[in-house]
Amino acid sequence: MKVTFELRRTHTLVVGSGAAGLCAAVRLRAEGIDDVRIVTEGLNAGTSINTGSDKQTYYKLSLCGDEPDSPVEMAKTYCSAGGMHGDLALVEAAVSARAFLHLVNLGVSFPTDAFGQFAGYKTDHDPRRRATSIGPYTSREMCRALIRRVKELNIPTDEEEFAVELLTVPNEHATPKQPKRAVGIITLNTSGRWTIYLAENIVFAVGGPGGLYKTSVYPTGHTGAIGLALREEAAAANLTESQFGLASVKHRWNVSGTYMQVIPRVVSTDNDGRNPREFLRDAFGNDASEIGKMDSLLFLKGYQWPFDSRKLQEGSSFIDFLVYRETMEHRRVFLDYKQNPTGFDAAALSEEAKTYLAKSGMTNLNATTPIERLEKMNPAAIQMYREHEIDLYREMLEIAFCAQHNNGGLAGTHWWESINIAHLFPVGEVNGSHGTARPGGSALNAGQVGAFRAAELIQHRYAETTLDVDYALQVAQDRLVQLQTWCETAKTSKTHWRKERENLQYRMSQMGGAMRAMNTLDTALQVTTEDYERLLKDGVAYDGEHDKHEALRNRHLTFAAMTYLNAVSFAVKSGVGSRGSSVVFAPDGNVISENASFRDKILMTQYDSATQSITNHWQSCRPIPESDLWFETVWTTYREGKIY
Ligand SMILES: Cc1cc2nc3c(=O)[nH]c(=O)nc-3n(C[C@H](O)[C@H](O)[C@H](O)COP(=O)(O)OP(=O)(O)OC[C@H]3O[C@@H](n4cnc5c(N)ncnc54)[C@H](O)[C@@H]3O)c2cc1C
Repeated sequence: MKVTFELRRTHTLVVGSGAAGLCAAVRLRAEGIDDVRIVTEGLNAGTSINTGSDKQTYYKLSLCGDEPDSPVEMAKTYCSAGGMHGDLALVEAAVSARAFLHLVNLGVSFPTDAFGQFAGYKTDHDPRRRATSIGPYTSREMCRALIRRVKELNIPTDEEEFAVELLTVPNEHATPKQPKRAVGIITLNTSGRWTIYLAENIVFAVGGPGGLYKTSVYPTGHTGAIGLALREEAAAANLTESQFGLASVKHRWNVSGTYMQVIPRVVSTDNDGRNPREFLRDAFGNDASEIGKMDSLLFLKGYQWPFDSRKLQEGSSFIDFLVYRETMEHRRVFLDYKQNPTGFDAAALSEEAKTYLAKSGMTNLNATTPIERLEKMNPAAIQMYREHEIDLYREMLEIAFCAQHNNGGLAGTHWWESINIAHLFPVGEVNGSHGTARPGGSALNAGQVGAFRAAELIQHRYAETTLDVDYALQVAQDRLVQLQTWCETAKTSKTHWRKERENLQYRMSQMGGAMRAMNTLDTALQVTTEDYERLLKDGVAYDGEHDKHEALRNRHLTFAAMTYLNAVSFAVKSGVGSRGSSVVFAPDGNVISENASFRDKILMTQYDSATQSITNHWQSCRPIPESDLWFETVWTTYREGKIY
């Protein structure tokens, strides 16, 4: 079979143009790699440029006031919740100031006082005031500044290209740790044109696995592409650790901050909007003190946004659980700002809620409605939904318990190179550097730091051209024939990619997300594995050349789902219990509490193509490196290039 394609060669290819990929491209140029190219679904696609929150946070070393901070202190914060390597934590801390100031110098206007201090605030899991923000759209403004720089540098950018295959070959300089190397990718565009990209290095910046979940606050259309690397046997870490929380679904947005602090009425309805009821009552009861408790927990959701298993039994995460359970019973859940929860009485609220609301100028709470409180405390919050054609004065806001972020992902070295595939650099959310919990804002920091690290290593270790182009091209062409053959078969498949994806996402949200029960997990894994096998054999139907890439996307999404479920099932069977943003249920429905002995471990997951199986094992966390940092010694080692 002869398949026509375009061939493009570049020294270093950046796949994905979120905040992480864009920064990598800019830094590669700054390091002296001239031949850099970005290939992406679109400069306006992905999470970074399309998302935000009440006050979207960027985490970095504290740069203000007289509170002492240091890279080691910050690394300790990263490691404190468990499941994070100390060396990665130290790098993310040490490089954070540099990466942050890079953004500032590109024009991202993080606020300072009159003396140039970057004022900070405390975010979740943060003992200091390391967090900063430029408002709801921090990551979007980061992207815009980076895109301006990419354009100034004339870095070629191919948009509307969908990577459908990552290409690897045996590593000619094979080490036991890195038996393979990356050599390129294959993309498909919406006209059905194939392109083979061959490159010395691949910066893989494809974002988090948004496409795995039905209830998701990842931007619509952002699916991620971690499955491409997993299929090539890239090792992964902590796939089990993600962040979930309450978000609106019509316009995907976290309902954190004032959206909850004004204590809206929470209502569920049938699918068609009938039979409304305040379902939280079933769990709390109707007497005044229980209603007060419920309303106080709702208030707390404002600044305890991510679901936290430690706050399930008595804390604010119980609200997330109840919302999740209600939607799983095929009911829709809404926040109603037009009226107070039935029986709402300010006197029954917790002292914390009362004090906060009083300080915010909310007197005589009983005489106001949630929308009136929101209008007073944060009118921009109402305006934000109005801009997306949701009028909180007139309609209820539909919400769900949503996937938001994957702390885990591909396993990288402290230079953000894949630990087992040479020349492959997972940066951004697809890199699984984080552990069980992370301080708010550290995802954006990690993306920038990873980009700096990858660019620096590429310049110092991989600037030469070592690729056997003829061999790589042969491998690519063979793959292309397989892809084309698969697409021909898929055309006549009985199931359509849309339906299959819907099923997959529903299953993942129901059984493979934050709420984990052994029996349903096994079912989910079995069904997903069967789906993947069927998908490989029969394909999934698509409508034409314009959506052929979506059928191929189902392949890597289903593979990723299978791998994630496999990891989650292994972790649950290991007895890790409930931790971070996940809860494990025993067969009798009781919550299994955390087994703290797993805190110093990381779950490693990898596909083996020879046996067609996925294996998992626990690895001990490496400690935070210690060094006397004697300047002369550090300088010599640096000059001699031994740090790379
Ligand atoms: C609602 C919400 C709020 C958040 N708030 C915060 C916060 O306050 N602080 C914080 O630190 N983090 C936050 N996060 C997380 C953070 O925004 C993301 O982790 C981060 O933006 C990811 O950046 P990235 O560059 O890795 O990926 P993305 O920005 O998702 O970019 C991925 C890129 O890869 C491209 N791509 C993907 N697949 C393919 C393919 N097959 N072929 C070609 N291109 C492809 C995409 O089009 C895109 O260009 C939040 C996330 C959400 C969803």
